[in-house]
Amino acid sequence: MSLDAQPTDFSAARIQETVQQILTAGVLPTIVQAGHPVLRQLAAPYSGQLSDAELGQLIDLMHSVMHKAPGVGLAAPQLGIPLQLAVLEDQFEVDAEVAAVRGREPLPFFAMLNPALRPLGASAVAFYEGCLSVNGLQAAVMRPESARLDYTAPDGTPKAQDFSGWQARIVQHETDHLHGILYLDRAELRSLSNNAEYSARWAQPDISLARQGLGFLPDR
Ligand code: ZN
Repeated sequence: MSLDAQPTDFSAARIQETVQQILTAGVLPTIVQAGHPVLRQLAAPYSGQLSDAELGQLIDLMHSVMHKAPGVGLAAPQLGIPLQLAVLEDQFEVDAEVAAVRGREPLPFFAMLNPALRPLGASAVAFYEGCLSVNGLQAAVMRPESARLDYTAPDGTPKAQDFSGWQARIVQHETDHLHGILYLDRAELRSLSNNAEYSARWAQPDISLARQGLGFLPDR
């Protein structure tokens, strides 16, 4: 699938100015919602647009916004900053059966700059996911079950790490944000549910009931 986004038109100076505004506002920023063009642009690769102190403060602030939401990932464009930076963490208590079926294991907090992903193997799995920038909705998304992530740590160290299961889903969702892609672009649209319908009907560990009830991903 080709989902090419236009590069951001934000200069380094404008990125720095936007980050300063957010850091000095004195309140946590609101999360940008779908329809805002910043979510549809290729974010600028990080190349030292911020001082080390500013980058550290921004990561801390994104961590706080993600916790408050609550969510398991947040990308800088979701705060209106078109920069290739995202924070990820999954320490939520999850039902044991759900965790087993979805391959959901705790993901310790980390921040990634300039991530690049490639799938490992041909296995793909579909589960419901949501997005802090698409309030109130969830949809099933087929994604590679495992992927290799190359990224730069905030201290400038290049990193490579393999992820699978739910961790791989989170990493792919956040990397997509930095490339102007929303999960809905990859979703089975017939699976689309508002949160109340999802909770009432489709929150089982796997998506088999939802597939039958809503008519998506039919068996061939
Ligand atoms: Zn999202």
